Amino acid sequence: MRIKRRDLIKRLTMLPLAGSVFPLESLLSAPVAVDNHSLFLQDDQMPELHRKALVMDGHTHVMTRELLMGTDIGQRYKDGTVDLPRAKEGGVDAMFFTVYTPEHYYPGRFETKNTFRVVNLALDQIEKNNAVIELALTASDIERISKKGKIAAFLDLEGPFDLDGDINLLRALYRLGLRSMQLTAHNTTNAFIDTCNDVSRWGGINGLGKEIIAEMNRLGMVINVAHASNDAILQSVEASKAPVIYSHGGFYGIVPHPRCITDEAAKALAEKGGVIGIHFGSLFNNPKYFEWQTDTKETTPASVHSAELNTIGEVDEELRTEVPLNFTGEIPDEYWMHVDQLAKVIDYGVNLVGEDHIAIGSDLDGGPELPREIKDISDFPQITMAMQRVGYSEKRIKKILGLNWLRVIREVTGR
Ligand SMILES: [Zn+2]
Repeated sequence: MRIKRRDLIKRLTMLPLAGSVFPLESLLSAPVAVDNHSLFLQDDQMPELHRKALVMDGHTHVMTRELLMGTDIGQRYKDGTVDLPRAKEGGVDAMFFTVYTPEHYYPGRFETKNTFRVVNLALDQIEKNNAVIELALTASDIERISKKGKIAAFLDLEGPFDLDGDINLLRALYRLGLRSMQLTAHNTTNAFIDTCNDVSRWGGINGLGKEIIAEMNRLGMVINVAHASNDAILQSVEASKAPVIYSHGGFYGIVPHPRCITDEAAKALAEKGGVIGIHFGSLFNNPKYFEWQTDTKETTPASVHSAELNTIGEVDEELRTEVPLNFTGEIPDEYWMHVDQLAKVIDYGVNLVGEDHIAIGSDLDGGPELPREIKDISDFPQITMAMQRVGYSEKRIKKILGLNWLRVIREVTGR
């Protein structure tokens, strides 16, 4: 049977929006009371090392479905790949709690409104589920919260706080608790930085980009260059006084996709103390899958088009048909990546820039074509087991699982 795939990354990049509206009933998620998916990993299979280690994911999508479907991240769901019960089950102690403003909101210039409401919702959801999760503003917070057995949420923004780059809005978000932000407007070039998927308007970053970097340095915010163009990464690393992160992606040396970081950029970022988070998706990590996907068109410019939708509510309606943002296609066996391939990508990174600069950035609930052994966040121990099979030391695995994120956050926030 021919494969019917839904390439979410591509879809989220293409505007204006098209497609039919599904009946709302079919889109509503209902919490489930019992865990019925222990097929992948049994409780007693979690390695002791994983249980003891501080496990931090550098890019976990949250709040899109909570906002659009009215779900509660504290409940366990059958769909999607992230909720707090499953995160606990996967031994995840901390995450870049990534709130997302996709391209859908840009044509009508609803990006700032969406960003503030998802940050506000994230704070509400963290407060509501305070028994299991707390907001972290620093590395010390992450340690303190995880020692209590709770999950630490380190707020991170994917999408523009403002396509024009108004620094006052950035400061307001900082005051709300945002401590990490991607410079690009997801896949779209904004007023100050080029992305890897869109037109190069600035040849990297411009003067405003440097001002924003300086302000983030001054505030103590983590600068995230995922989705930036190669020149933009190099120039951002150069401009920043603090280490810079690339929260989620693969290596261009393995898969020549624009969302993969070049060896040159990876080395520059690491030399300044930065960290690269390895994505869970086949597209960025499995050359066979990438080659198979011959019709890949992610390089198509994702410039903002004219708005057809007049209100933010209309945009919500459209986007609601796409959440949870998970890959739902089928992958033939020969192209479906095993978790051991992820370990190979991690090893490529360790050989390239050293064990102090590689971490995990799953992009769960953001749409990656997950490895066979990982159905959702509860299967996080599979990564540890794959690294153990490579023969990594306990010390190295702990760095990659979380200590590298912790170190870079401490350097940036000062605590
Ligand atoms: Zn992303």
